[in-house]
Amino acid sequence: MNQHRKELISTFQRLKEMVPEFVKFNPYHGPDGRFTTASGAHGKRVKNFVKKKLVSQFMTSEIEKKQAQEQMEEILSTFNNKALDRLEGMDKLVVLSRKQHVQELYEHLIKEPADDALVGSYLEYTDGTYMILSGGHPPRISTKMAEDHDIPKEQVEANNAKAFRSKRGVMAHEIYHALDKKEQKYSGSEEWKSAWKEEIREKGGLSDYAKTNEIEGWAEFGRCMSGQGPGGRMRAARKFPKCYKYFIEQGLLK
Ligand SMILES: [Zn+2]
Repeated sequence: MNQHRKELISTFQRLKEMVPEFVKFNPYHGPDGRFTTASGAHGKRVKNFVKKKLVSQFMTSEIEKKQAQEQMEEILSTFNNKALDRLEGMDKLVVLSRKQHVQELYEHLIKEPADDALVGSYLEYTDGTYMILSGGHPPRISTKMAEDHDIPKEQVEANNAKAFRSKRGVMAHEIYHALDKKEQKYSGSEEWKSAWKEEIREKGGLSDYAKTNEIEGWAEFGRCMSGQGPGGRMRAARKFPKCYKYFIEQGLLK
């Protein structure tokens, strides 16, 4: 871990002590739309799924563990039973908090150096074991904030809301790889490939990473559909109508 990051993390720890309200920070109040978690039978299924599958021993704190559960519940609440059925066969969903931890575990499992940008990974083994590693960047604290301890609460919350969304986005991205699986059930279809090529790779506007190939395009589109609230879906429908149409037709979403 480089010195700069170490400093950011220790500053963040100090901030948590200085601003007790931080622990009450409500992640649902994002500017990109309020999330709702499913209720009734569907909500129960989602909660059970998260309880059963989420491996949380890598979590660095109770707050992070709780947030990871909330993030995953939010994402899975956008899925219907068809999508949940497809995920049921997965062995583990591992959620970590820091990019550093994801990279370490990835290297341990894959026995290959992790890409420097790696913040999540979907792993599929030949014996039928599936695993999602999901992490994110630590809350970004500006140099000024690091130097100056007199930070308005709103600013701390805004920073951490951003980090929360980034982690939820990574998780959503990896879950969409899990739905697609190595067989590329969705991303490998001719309809998706042509829509992805035209709207995402050529026109752009989703993310640079989404242009990599149709598989990453699918996962990035999923991030937009299930990881960014109602606003994300509206943007997706407006900017990428063909991809959106294909996506909706698969009947995975509520
Ligand atoms: Zn990916």
